[in-house]
Amino acid sequence: MPQTHGRRSRVAVVTGGASGIGEATCRHLAERNHRIAVLDLDGDGASRVAEELRAHGGEALGLTADVTDRPALDAAFAEIRATFGPAEILVTSAGLVAFDPFENITPERWSRLIDVNLTGTFHCCQAAVPDMVAARWGRIVTISSSSAQRGSPTMAHYAAAKGGVIVLTKSLARAYAPHGITVNSIPPSGIETPMQHRSQAEGDLPANEVMAGTIPLGHLGTPDDIAAAAAFLTSDEAGFITGQVLGVNGGAVL
Ligand code: NAD
Repeated sequence: MPQTHGRRSRVAVVTGGASGIGEATCRHLAERNHRIAVLDLDGDGASRVAEELRAHGGEALGLTADVTDRPALDAAFAEIRATFGPAEILVTSAGLVAFDPFENITPERWSRLIDVNLTGTFHCCQAAVPDMVAARWGRIVTISSSSAQRGSPTMAHYAAAKGGVIVLTKSLARAYAPHGITVNSIPPSGIETPMQHRSQAEGDLPANEVMAGTIPLGHLGTPDDIAAAAAFLTSDEAGFITGQVLGVNGGAVL
């Protein structure tokens, strides 16, 4: 890192960049010579990832922000512009999962899941889009969830929020296609990350072997599997792909 691939260096913002899929996406985009803004509620984690990218020769900035806090997000985007220039690539990986029987979902818990997963994605896209419109070029990849494609008996709040992310993605693809901006979503499934490990520790998800048995390819995915797809979707080569939902799930959803 960084291998330049002869590509143009752009400013890439990755939310949830301190862990799991977001962290791997930061690395993949840095390998493409982009300048990376690692944005996360976990400021220490964001700083750690940015430091690692810089140690490998990349340009990176760690930022603390809650995606539900619009003033904090606007301030973070202002800092990104001042440091690197306008945002050109956005990957929204910040997310919160929960497992509850439907009748136990309190209105407060419902609102929290919608706020972080759906409204947080709205805030980040709205903060980034003016830069992309001005540049007449932009790439947005939202990280949704296979639970939004299948429905989930114990994640109605999370799945509904992620379903909202998918249709937000398609709506933005239509709205901003005339501006040279593509907007696509990746709904992961069965990716080994700290989030998955926490869910397993709490008994909400079964052990790896059991999960692997439900996946046609017979094994779990890695954060790099999602990051590679996100890196492609944010590239110049993917310029004719917009409004699409690219499942990266070992065949779990066909
Ligand atoms: P993770 O918990 O490892 O990483 C998520 C990151 O988001 C963390 O660093 C966390 O601090 C950050 N975050 C959470 N709330 C935030 C907020 N309000 N503001 C800013 N940052 C916040 O999880 P992961 O598995 O890498 O998940 C990444 C995305 O992929 C999430 O949106 C998740 O819903 C989605 N997803 C993951 C899987 C999977 O199999 N791991 C499956 C489906 C969807």
